[in-house]
Amino acid sequence: MLVKTAGLVLRETRVGEADKLLCVLTPTDGKITVKARGALRKGSRTGSATQLFAFSEMALFQGKSQYTLNEASAVELFFPLRERVESMALAAYVCEVLELLSDADSGMEELLRLGLNTLYALSEQTAAEELIKAAFELRVAALAGYAPEAEGACTACGAAEDLYFSPAEGAVFCRLHLPGDRGAVYLRGGAAEAMNYVLSCDARRIFSFRLGEEGMRAFSVAAERYLLSALGRGFRTLDYYHKIQSATEY
Ligand SMILES: [Zn+2]
Repeated sequence: MLVKTAGLVLRETRVGEADKLLCVLTPTDGKITVKARGALRKGSRTGSATQLFAFSEMALFQGKSQYTLNEASAVELFFPLRERVESMALAAYVCEVLELLSDADSGMEELLRLGLNTLYALSEQTAAEELIKAAFELRVAALAGYAPEAEGACTACGAAEDLYFSPAEGAVFCRLHLPGDRGAVYLRGGAAEAMNYVLSCDARRIFSFRLGEEGMRAFSVAAERYLLSALGRGFRTLDYYHKIQSATEY
């Protein structure tokens, strides 16, 4: 059976001489595996539409265990992000997280939309990279069912000043109610408001806010620690991103 779908390429693996195996996130069928025959051959018609980060229209033959690509045309390649090593590393992290949190099920529209919005923001640099990364981490955690309690006030007493975020508890607390958590982050400089905003705003507006340097730092540390703590694991692509960052700081 021939099916048509749009999809975001989250991963590409070389198979044999010229074939590729793709992990593709689609709006209606969730995460699917697609075999792209001859995609690595020079001059292949499907070469650019099947590369990592490509959002493409695909015509697929549906087999028993996987799909085989018949035709593909790129809708958006996010080309500018491919020119900067840091943006590319961050985009690879975004894709690894999306692959982990999506499944072969329906109802992946929101996850796909968040992925596309994030790659677009990274590509067009519509906001600071640190802000895009942290907003994505919080929002993707919430979409996957791990929304933290971060409504700009202490979860225990409602106090709105002097707040901390506990990644282990996934909640905001005042100094008095903060449980013992060595990873707790003091939410200075508007970071508490930023967390609340990202978790509650319209999907198209998640990167539309500003933070000063101190607030950005706290927001960014809180978001990354929370995602890793909620998922109980790290990411190879995230380690790589941090490695390049520390290499370019000096
Ligand atoms: Zn409190």
